[in-house]
Amino acid sequence: MADRDGVIWLDGKLVPWRDAKVHVLTHSLHYGMGVFEGVRAYETDKGPAIFRLREHTDRLFNSAHILNMKVPYAKDVINQAQIDVVRENKLPHAYLRPLVFYGSEGMGLRAAGLNVHVAVAAWEWPSYMSPEALELGIKVRTSSYTRHHVNITMCKAKSSGSYMNSMLALNEALSGGADEALLLDNEGYVAEGSGENVFLIRDKVLYTPELTSCLDGITRKTIIQLAEERGYKVREKRLTRDEFYIADEAFFTGTAAEVTPIRELDGRIIGEGKRGPITEQLQAVYFDLVRGKLDEYRDWLTFAV
Ligand code: PMP
Repeated sequence: MADRDGVIWLDGKLVPWRDAKVHVLTHSLHYGMGVFEGVRAYETDKGPAIFRLREHTDRLFNSAHILNMKVPYAKDVINQAQIDVVRENKLPHAYLRPLVFYGSEGMGLRAAGLNVHVAVAAWEWPSYMSPEALELGIKVRTSSYTRHHVNITMCKAKSSGSYMNSMLALNEALSGGADEALLLDNEGYVAEGSGENVFLIRDKVLYTPELTSCLDGITRKTIIQLAEERGYKVREKRLTRDEFYIADEAFFTGTAAEVTPIRELDGRIIGEGKRGPITEQLQAVYFDLVRGKLDEYRDWLTFAV
């Protein structure tokens, strides 16, 4: 990742990709206290369009606020930085990674005296799941790792340290032959995937876990709105893993994972064992709107031209 051409926005300036470096004593590298976003820009007929940029930046600032880190830039500066890295790197489509972190001004757990730094990188990252996964669905295993409790890391913050739990869960699932992990909360109810929110569909009603132990996903919110606008009921409630076993359809949502059908959980086939019809409908609308084909959702797109 580090050895390539291009530019990265670092602390207010665009710097050559290879020079966007930090010291090994960078505080956030040691203790995981940092926050970030994952944002996507899609190719449209008017150039690359960043999907729901303002909402991602709002969540970045909220995450920093939760961790009591003060971002030393205004939101519109960070929005412009994201537009600039897509444009200056001439990316037709991109994954964007804004990161807020403590620097190498000190070590130890006291936050006083540490400076908050901000980096924004963008690169082409076409598919997080394989293209077949988006059509055929993926195999998921319930994780042996519990998802964060609200009083351990605070789930509303998309914080760097939280992803240790995600990595443990995902790599356990992968080494067991599955494609993704489903994490339960500390009471045993379904929380989310390692980097996705989760939905099930039963009798044409969509269900998704309440926002207690999962991230307030921007794709989740988008899919809830798209489903309701198409006449589906959506309920946010506590869900159990066996409700997924007997669901008609299930899918993950996320900026990287987009709308990924789940065909199997813990060796139980879900529904027909492939992408279900409502998942297919919502996935198609999602892909059309992020690619700028649906005028009514143009407000969600920021053109990086
Ligand atoms: N949960 C977790 C743990 C995630 O990392 C992500 C990805 N940001 C999501 C849910 C989905 O959020 P979004 O739709 O905003 O990408």
